[in-house]
Amino acid sequence: MIRYGVNSAKINHIFISHLHGDHYLGLIPLLDSMSLNKRTVPLNLYAPPDLMRVLDTHQAVSKAYYSYPIHFCPTQAEYSELVLDTPTFTVRTLPLAHVRMACTGFLFVEKPMPRKMLGEQIQQYNIPFDQIKDLKNGDDYILPDGTVIPNAELTIANRPPYSYAYCSDTAYTETLIPLIKDTTILYHEATYLKDMQEKAAERGHSTAEQAAQIALKAEVKRLIIGHYSSKYANLTPFVEEARAVFAHSDLAIEGNRYMPL
Ligand SMILES: [Zn+2]
Ligand SMILES: [Zn+2]
Repeated sequence: MIRYGVNSAKINHIFISHLHGDHYLGLIPLLDSMSLNKRTVPLNLYAPPDLMRVLDTHQAVSKAYYSYPIHFCPTQAEYSELVLDTPTFTVRTLPLAHVRMACTGFLFVEKPMPRKMLGEQIQQYNIPFDQIKDLKNGDDYILPDGTVIPNAELTIANRPPYSYAYCSDTAYTETLIPLIKDTTILYHEATYLKDMQEKAAERGHSTAEQAAQIALKAEVKRLIIGHYSSKYANLTPFVEEARAVFAHSDLAIEGNRYMPL
């Protein structure tokens, strides 16, 4: 985060999929440093219930209590549920199949954005500022003489809402497909290549080919794969294997930015 200029003070929500060390041990130093920086704004944490035990123990043994409140939202991996609803986006959990470990992905969905005003129409009809919000929400404009100007003449549609599904760690599971249908960007784990398919299933992981099959069946717009096993030095075969099934596949590389296609 420091390397890429991400300001941790601006983070208000943290989502933890499951309690394998590679998915949450970095959280403790992050929470500690927020406290050292004298944060007072509450932090919202969405995670399996046992994480709170870890954080309580850490605070007790380190005798360092956080300078800010943590609002803890316990997750469960039985069914998808809404965990956050803001004016601009929602977050739902996605139950994943990670052997005996309760594990959830997260689906972030933007809400439809208001329409965009056409600047020249504001001038032409002399539309007062306090009317703009209603027009962006679809109202027609009524001139002082009673003439109705239809909304379509005053505004244009905004871009469609984007969505992002984060799915790690998981074996191949088709129960995900209806939950992530048409997602703008899907991140799906791909720990192994397809010659390791059996081992992947045993360990609750997926192959690059399986990640691409999920992307294809869910008709997502773009797939990003990651969480490669450290035994692979060369990652090119991962993206080749995925693209053979789903063309819009890319490797997750730290520091890269992935935009909607
Ligand atoms: Zn795991
Ligand atoms: Zn993992």
